Amino acid sequence: MKAANLPAQIAAHIIPRPGGQMVYHCLGCQADHGIDQLLYTCPDCGQVLLIQDCDPKGLQRLSGETWRQVFDYRKTLTVPALKGIFLFHEFIAPILPLEDIVYLGEGHTPVVEASPLLQERVGMRFFYKNDGQNPSASFKDRGMACALSYLRHMIRHGYADQVLAVCASTGDTSAAAALYAAYLQPEVKSAVLLPHKKVTPQQLSQPLGSGAAVFEIPGVFDDCMKVVEALADNYPVALLNSKNAWRILGQESYSFEIAQAFDYDLTDTVVVLPIGNAGNITAVMSGFIKFYRAGVIASLPKIVGVQSLHADPVVRYYSQPDPAQRRFVPVTVKPSTAQAAMIGNPVSMPRVIHLTDTYDRLSGRENVFFVPVAEQDIMDWQLTANRHGHIACTHGGECLAGLIEARRRNIVSAAQTAVLDATAHALKFAGFQEMYFENRFPADFQVSPKNELVNAPTLIHPADLEHVPQPGKPLTGEAFARFVQRVSEEIACRLNLSTKRGQP
Ligand SMILES: *Cc1c(COP(=O)(O)O)cnc(C)c1O
Ligand SMILES: [Zn+2]
Repeated sequence: MKAANLPAQIAAHIIPRPGGQMVYHCLGCQADHGIDQLLYTCPDCGQVLLIQDCDPKGLQRLSGETWRQVFDYRKTLTVPALKGIFLFHEFIAPILPLEDIVYLGEGHTPVVEASPLLQERVGMRFFYKNDGQNPSASFKDRGMACALSYLRHMIRHGYADQVLAVCASTGDTSAAAALYAAYLQPEVKSAVLLPHKKVTPQQLSQPLGSGAAVFEIPGVFDDCMKVVEALADNYPVALLNSKNAWRILGQESYSFEIAQAFDYDLTDTVVVLPIGNAGNITAVMSGFIKFYRAGVIASLPKIVGVQSLHADPVVRYYSQPDPAQRRFVPVTVKPSTAQAAMIGNPVSMPRVIHLTDTYDRLSGRENVFFVPVAEQDIMDWQLTANRHGHIACTHGGECLAGLIEARRRNIVSAAQTAVLDATAHALKFAGFQEMYFENRFPADFQVSPKNELVNAPTLIHPADLEHVPQPGKPLTGEAFARFVQRVSEEIACRLNLSTKRGQP
């Protein structure tokens, strides 16, 4: 649709007018720092930062109703910069000019209602929001779209010329970083650090294919992270880990989209997310808070953060009911099929604590919950979801296991509606499915296959069939007819099919 064809009061706001002011805000000493430099931690006290709009009340210049209409009409436009997460430009990074925005197809991922049979099993209405349908097949693209748009902005305005973007990753961050950096060649190049043998072959292939410099490091993600921090401290590189607060801004789009998908009515809605480095849950809480404060939504949905028992520092922190007694202790992780969340010392923990407080306070009750799940349940529920028509990755399975655990603990009731974050595409983690089907999980994963969920291909080669087609050697005539007949008979036999009536 063309802007000119819109109702007058919408047309005035349909194309965002970049401007305003944003600052890095330190969650430790409360200092603000200018965004004309790339900062990851506070220069004064070393704490993590969040980026804040200096005039948050500015978002109240329009009524909630007008914002809702602007976003809904904006969806019909064909302006590339507004096709992705920046449909919500004013709520993400209003300072960015539209010509700096990088759009590679991220955001607006499908919200798919769970199959009736699966909902019946779980005992409530729920949806998967398939963030695996982003361009690099995980939600990390949301944050990268924002972080790389900011870098492009810095380059265009002469704050930086060439940028080497680096990140440590459990797999998906590097895939996304390498993809967006590759798009901005030659000004932006990327280098990624991965824990050796701790990412899946699919995830390793992604930054390689995008042309990034890929380094494999002994140890786990937490070790890679330390090396990247040393690089960022000592060399002129742009850090793209979730310490980078621009990524958090981009990931807030997940919340905005859920609001829009449910017509901005989130009464009795529960959003379930896996937690690793805790950037995602930070962003999702922050996003809902912004929409709530601006009157775009009238109530804050319940948030349920899920962690595997093999990497559960956030769950442990909140298992202490008395806030005054809570103390954060990093954990040593054990192997997890929710591999992208296998993090013992989440960078965003201070953000989680800060935002959980704010979220509960604005909700007028405890509205953010944390539940642990077993590795066995992660795999069983991932496979179960996918046997009902979904494309959940292991973390999507973790969310479903978490929803069931939240029901068991009466955190969530049957009358509510849940939205589960399938954070990546199932194909990225096909190796875990294969290990399950072939009963090859190393003991420390603590996963053993359930027969009813195992699947394997069957080779059909009837013993009485002398000739079968081979590459470069097709069968013809009688031999081919016999091959087709015998193989189809054999398959029909295995599927218990009887011949159609009237056929011999
Ligand atoms: C990064 C990632 C997570 C964890 O998100 P955090 O922001 O680190 O908490 C979960 N699932 C997938 C697929 C991921 O790539
Ligand atoms: Zn500080």
